[in-house]
Amino acid sequence: MKKISVLGSTGSIGTQTLDVVDITGQYEVFALSAHSNVELLEKQIRKYKPSVVCMTDENAASDLRVRVKDTPVKVLSGIDGACECASCDEVDTVVTAIVGIAGLKPTLSAIRSGKRIALANKETLVTAGEIVMREASLNNVEILPVDSEHSAIFQSIANQGKFLNRIIITASGGPFFGKTREELENVTPEMALKHPNWSMGAKITIDSATLVNKGLEIIEAMHLFGLPVDKIQPIVHRESIIHSMVEFCDGSIIAQMGVADMKLPISYALSYPKRTVPVCKALDLVGVGKLSFFDIDYRTFPSIDLAKKAAESGGVMCAVYNGANEAAVELFLGGKCKFTAITELIEKAMDRAPKTQNPELEDIFMADMFARKIVKECC
Ligand code: NAD
Ligand code: MG
Repeated sequence: MKKISVLGSTGSIGTQTLDVVDITGQYEVFALSAHSNVELLEKQIRKYKPSVVCMTDENAASDLRVRVKDTPVKVLSGIDGACECASCDEVDTVVTAIVGIAGLKPTLSAIRSGKRIALANKETLVTAGEIVMREASLNNVEILPVDSEHSAIFQSIANQGKFLNRIIITASGGPFFGKTREELENVTPEMALKHPNWSMGAKITIDSATLVNKGLEIIEAMHLFGLPVDKIQPIVHRESIIHSMVEFCDGSIIAQMGVADMKLPISYALSYPKRTVPVCKALDLVGVGKLSFFDIDYRTFPSIDLAKKAAESGGVMCAVYNGANEAAVELFLGGKCKFTAITELIEKAMDRAPKTQNPELEDIFMADMFARKIVKECC
């Protein structure tokens, strides 16, 4: 049995990864990490019997040690503990499902230990794509995408990458498809947290409502598939049945389809190049009836143009885009800034950020901190 480590095991992707473990019966859970949800991690320890776990929050780790002292599990803490969970000798594949730049160090730790990566934590590639891809190549590590669009692109390319001409990345359009920017002025967190097709963690759900998620995904695709951003075209596809498409040099377009269920791309990232038993319900195309496509409304959703601008600037600019967004989403969820301010704050941070090129890891973290500071000052 393949041994896996799940970073962010208490979140939306983390728990669905454990569902895939249950359904397929093909993986042994060796390590788990989460931030502060002690109750759920305790339940996971009792069910999956991992050898090592980590709570990055120190208080939560102390609490957990008391709760599970009747079991042989080793309880680590802090970001170093998450890095240890990512690099245990016994582990074959690490599922990176931490949210935000917090996942960067543990993902690099897994890569440097030669683990296969099932990558959900897109912010890792967005903030430090060049460093991460370079380390992956140096260490002969395969990065298998968990993000549904990137899994679709990967499956559609099917080893014909040298003929790739264009990527068509689909977006559901989120809960505010068809609205004007003015209509979004007074959107509340409750309204923005209602995604039409997917059930996900709070941060990515807000990112889907602002379309920042698509901006992050374009940058993620640029690093994973080696195309410039002007060859990655986002389009709205309301039904979320086609998860993305690729166009080859002869004009042929290949799409990957399926129900909107993250267990499918998670399972493929774990089993590649093989496939497993069904992990989700079958797609009923007659029931779906029609598939619809629309252009992005770039005026209402400036997030995609800002992401492309960040990608074209290169250096630390994508880390600034991401850091400003993480800080602004936190403020919005806490009722401290307007929905439409999220993209305005990203733009301000990008305007003021230093344009450091060829960054080292510490430049990335400095740019992230700089962006968060600007967002706090401008909000
Ligand atoms: P989530 O909020 O549901 O879960 C996040 C997990 O990360 C939790 O286990 C939490 O304990 C842990 N975590 C949070 N902050 C942390 C910190 N500072 N240090 C260490 N651990 C921390 O998020 P999610 O929706 O599962 O998303 C996880 C990642 O997967 C994100 O990068 C997201 O963009 C990506 N993703 C998610 C989906 C989805 O359907 N949920 C789809 C595609 C990609
Ligand atoms: Mg996605």
